[in-house]
Amino acid sequence: MTEFLNRFSRRKFILTAGASAGAVFLKGCLGNPPENLSSGGGTTKPAVQEVANISPEQKPETTTVKLGYIPIVEAAPLIIAKEKGFFAKYGMNVDLAKQASWGAARDNVEIGSVGGGIDGGQWQMPMPHLITEGLITKGNQKIPMYVLCQLITHGNGIAIANKHQGKGVSLQLAGAKSLFKELKSSTPFTAAFTFPHVNQDLWIRYWLAAGGIDPDADVKLLTVPAAQTVANMKTGTMDAFSTGDPWPFRLVNDKIGYMAALTAEIWKNHPEEYLAMRADWVDKHPKATKAILKGIMEAQQWLDNFDNRKEAAQILAGRNYFNLPSAEILADPYQGKYDMGDGRKIDDKTMAAYYWKDGKGNVSYPYKSHDLWFITENVRWGFLPKDYITNNAAKAKELINKVNREDIWKEAAKEAGIAAADIPTNTSRGVEEFFDGTKFDPEKPEEYLKSLKIKKVSV
Ligand code: CA
Repeated sequence: MTEFLNRFSRRKFILTAGASAGAVFLKGCLGNPPENLSSGGGTTKPAVQEVANISPEQKPETTTVKLGYIPIVEAAPLIIAKEKGFFAKYGMNVDLAKQASWGAARDNVEIGSVGGGIDGGQWQMPMPHLITEGLITKGNQKIPMYVLCQLITHGNGIAIANKHQGKGVSLQLAGAKSLFKELKSSTPFTAAFTFPHVNQDLWIRYWLAAGGIDPDADVKLLTVPAAQTVANMKTGTMDAFSTGDPWPFRLVNDKIGYMAALTAEIWKNHPEEYLAMRADWVDKHPKATKAILKGIMEAQQWLDNFDNRKEAAQILAGRNYFNLPSAEILADPYQGKYDMGDGRKIDDKTMAAYYWKDGKGNVSYPYKSHDLWFITENVRWGFLPKDYITNNAAKAKELINKVNREDIWKEAAKEAGIAAADIPTNTSRGVEEFFDGTKFDPEKPEEYLKSLKIKKVSV
């Protein structure tokens, strides 16, 4: 392309980006978005890059989309793709909207960006499946969603209030059984997560049950917003909190609590949070969807270069995003360094958060076998009926095949020039193993349920 055309295209794109910045200005007049939807990146530098080399067949149908995020490290690929210009490189001007809570994200995706909400974003699992089934939406309305990529592995853990220091509440719970029993007869051990029936709820349940503590009978579990949990732990009314970075570091640093376990210790290279969008948006904008995915894939690769993580921590900690007092809060965990707050120190890069590749291979690719684990755990605790898993999990598989669009991920990866060796060829990652020796064979989810001693479902 000639220099003139190059300059012309760049100019044209800047004008386009300028036009959508104008749309942000108009928001107030339209009476939309509430405070919790304020754009995270709205006041930072515009991510404008050369887009002249997008081929006509890959040119997105729209340049604008609104994605929600929660200010925890899981959101990093979205924020980095915006701030480092990876979305813009593929022609997308992504509006990132900080969500006040997971419930708010769910409410906002129900109405979509046309209603002042969001088109998709970051989710715990299996939220996209539960929304698709109309199980957590208003009036049980079914809103089809597509899972498009995994955002992250690791980066989460279980925090315990400092008053329980030295009482055996750690990764292995054998030494703490009498404590739980004693508390049960007065004020039961109380633990919080930020949304029911998904990751954080499932991690704490898995950990308790593996240690012989029945999460439904021996403790009190409830949904509490992160900030409120920290306050409650400080005053002594909350015993535990299942959460992601930067909260563990802050709890330990402020001497409010300690870390009993990292999720990386419970299940090494486990699935964590995902990008999912409204199916109607994706069906209408397949090229824009792939452009978003390509931007995220580049951000994930950038994030996995540990030399970039100091810069990543600085961007994430910024006022527009996590609004942390210091980027240092993220710096050490990002290198796999955790002060667990009980004298235990972890310094192991394999325990850090990964976005693109981990010890098991590709992180970004959404394995259907992982969707199945999340659904199986929902059946285990009685959140979903047993018939999802009986009959060789036919009902679960039908739902997963509808929601999980690993095919779109693969197309995007090919367009982005990802090496064939880095594109998984099987939708199953195979047998998974947990810290207590339990194995999950995605071919036999019912056998997995049978093997578990503590569960709500009878199989
Ligand atoms: Ca998480």
